[in-house]
Amino acid sequence: MTSQQDWTQRYTGAVMNTFGTPKLVLIKGQGARVWDADGKEYVDLLGGIAVNALGHAHPALVGAVTEQLQTLGHISNFFASAPQVELAERLCRMVEPSVGAADTKVFFTNSGAEANEAAFKLTRRTGRTHIVATEGAFHGRTMGALALTSKEAYRAPFEPLPGDVTFVPYGDAEALAAAVTDATAAVIIEPVQGEAGVIIPPADYLAQARHITTAHGALLWLDEIQTGIGRTGTWLAFQNDELCDELPAVPDIVTLAKGLAGGIPIGACVATGAAASLLQPGNHGSTFAGNPIAAAAALAVLDTIEKDGLLENVAAISARLTAGLSADARITEVRAAGLLIGVDLVEGLDSAAVVAAALDAGFIINNPTPSRLRFAPPLVLTEADVDAFLAALPAILDAAEGTVTA
Ligand SMILES: *Cc1c(COP(=O)(O)O)cnc(C)c1O
Repeated sequence: MTSQQDWTQRYTGAVMNTFGTPKLVLIKGQGARVWDADGKEYVDLLGGIAVNALGHAHPALVGAVTEQLQTLGHISNFFASAPQVELAERLCRMVEPSVGAADTKVFFTNSGAEANEAAFKLTRRTGRTHIVATEGAFHGRTMGALALTSKEAYRAPFEPLPGDVTFVPYGDAEALAAAVTDATAAVIIEPVQGEAGVIIPPADYLAQARHITTAHGALLWLDEIQTGIGRTGTWLAFQNDELCDELPAVPDIVTLAKGLAGGIPIGACVATGAAASLLQPGNHGSTFAGNPIAAAAALAVLDTIEKDGLLENVAAISARLTAGLSADARITEVRAAGLLIGVDLVEGLDSAAVVAAALDAGFIINNPTPSRLRFAPPLVLTEADVDAFLAALPAILDAAEGTVTA
C-alpha cells in the first residue's frame, strides 16, 4: 500500500463522507507547486479554490502569522487588536475608495458562508424580508447562505430554508427589475458566477442592478467571496472596467472570504452608508471573528499583492493561459475574469476525465460542471507554470477522450 492509499483509507475511516474520496493526500507546497504523499509534484491551477492567493508557504504570510502568534494569538470580541482595526480600515477603503463619502464598516467572520450569514441578518434589519438572488448562484452551505444558493441538489435535503427568496435568471437586468419591489430588502449577486463555471454577465448588469435597487430602496449586495482580493486583476470585480461598467454608486454590502488571508480562515461583510449601521449591539457575534492571526495574515496578503505587483501579474498570466486554452479545438469557449477562468469542453468530452488526466500529468484543475473546467490558480503563478500546462494540454485531452467515467 502506498502512503497515499494508507492516508486515504484512514481518512474515509475517520472523516464524514461529505466531499467524496479525496483525489490526493498532499503533504507540502511551495509557490504554485504542491507534493503528494508519494512525492509526486503538481502545478496547482486551482489554488485551494481561489484561496491561496500567494501560493503555498509564501514567506510574507508565514512571517506575519508566526510573528502575530508569537505576540498575541486570540483575544475575544470584548477586546480589540491592532491588526483587526488596520484590516477593517483597509477593507473599508477598498470597497469605498472615496474616503469620507460614506460610512463604511466591517463585520469579520471565519468563512464565506458566515460572511453571507452576517449580511443576510443585516438585510433583515431593514424591516423587509424579501431577497432576490440569481439562478446558478452559490453563496455557501449554512442554512441562511443555502437559502440564497439556487442548486436544487444542495437545497432539497435541508428544506425548509429561511424564506422569502426569489430567484431570477443571472445576467438578465429586465428579470431583476421585474422581481424587485418596494418590499425587497436586498438583491444578492456574484459579479462573476464562480461555482456555475465562471459565468460573466453583460457589462451593464451590475450598474443596472444598482439603479434598480436604489429605485426601490433595496440593498445591493455583491458576493465577492470568490472574485474579490485581486482575483480578476482589480481589488474587487465590480471595480474591473473590463468586466463591468462603472456603478453609479458603491454596493451597500460586499462579502469577502476565500483569497483574503491566503488560506488562513477569514471572511468579511463590508457595508456602506446606512447599511453600515443596521447591525446593532447584540445583533450578531462570533468567537473567532476578527482573530488577530487571521487579520495579520490578511494584511500580509494585501501588502504582498500591492508590493509585488500581483494585479498586473493576474492580467498578464490570464492572457497567456487564455490564449493557449483557446487554441485547442476541443475547447469551445474560454471565459476569463483575470485568474478565474472557465472553459467549456466539446460535446462528449467529460470534464471529470479531463481533471483526472490532468492530475495524472501533474496539474490540479477543477470541474464545476460535467462539461466545464475551472482554473483559479495562485496570483503568483508564473509564465513557466502556464507554459508547462499548455505544453501538456493536448496529451491530457487525448487521454481524457479515451476515458469514460461514471
Ligand atoms: C466559496 C463561496 C462561498 C462560501 O464560502 P465558504 O468559505 O465555503 O463558506 C460563498 N459565495 C461564493 C461566491 C463562493 O465562491
